[in-house]
Amino acid sequence: MFNILKQVSDYAKGSIQAAKYIGEGLSVTFDHMRRRPVTVQYPYEKLIPSERFRGRIHFEFDKCISCEVCVRVCPINLPVVDWTFNKAIKKKELKHYSIDFGVCIFCGNCVEYCPTNCLSMTEEYELASYDRHELNYDNVALGRLPYKVTQDPMVTPLRELGYLPKGVMSPHDLPAGSQRPGKRPEDLVKEMEAVSTSTNE
Ligand code: SF4
Ligand code: SF4
Repeated sequence: MFNILKQVSDYAKGSIQAAKYIGEGLSVTFDHMRRRPVTVQYPYEKLIPSERFRGRIHFEFDKCISCEVCVRVCPINLPVVDWTFNKAIKKKELKHYSIDFGVCIFCGNCVEYCPTNCLSMTEEYELASYDRHELNYDNVALGRLPYKVTQDPMVTPLRELGYLPKGVMSPHDLPAGSQRPGKRPEDLVKEMEAVSTSTNE
């Protein structure tokens, strides 16, 4: 009789313990159901790079005046500006320009200080190569504009999770024709002005 009671008590304890563990497991599951997904099915899906993303540099040959400011402000004197002096017109003539992205740290100094704005950061980050010498881009390669994630028909663009408005759970529901992950700076300024006006009233 005593044995049976002990078995029933052990069984009840085991059942309670099992229910507790199942509850703990399900609480994790339910908690994740309220979270945004973080998996990106790359390369079929790609996140739209953020507004100030510093990717591969774009170079406009015709705008370059061979001043070499980009070389002087570069922490590793990386850009190679190959020019000759044209005595007839008393001006420098650019022959070749190159940046080795195997060495570049994408600090953006050259872009920031170029007096003619012929350098700009793009959103291109897929620079992987089997040969590091292929990362040395000449002016032709630097002049190529990257394919935007939002314009690539082979890719589903996703909004960065940090840019998702409150309450939006899926990064897939990009508004039609949207080219940017977030709002334009002027829209943000307008929103901030509207908020400060309403709080002052
Ligand atoms: S700073 Fe700009 S204009 Fe001057 S050499 Fe570099 S890329 Fe050309
Ligand atoms: S991004 Fe920075 S490291 Fe790269 S070339 Fe420009 S200044 Fe040099």
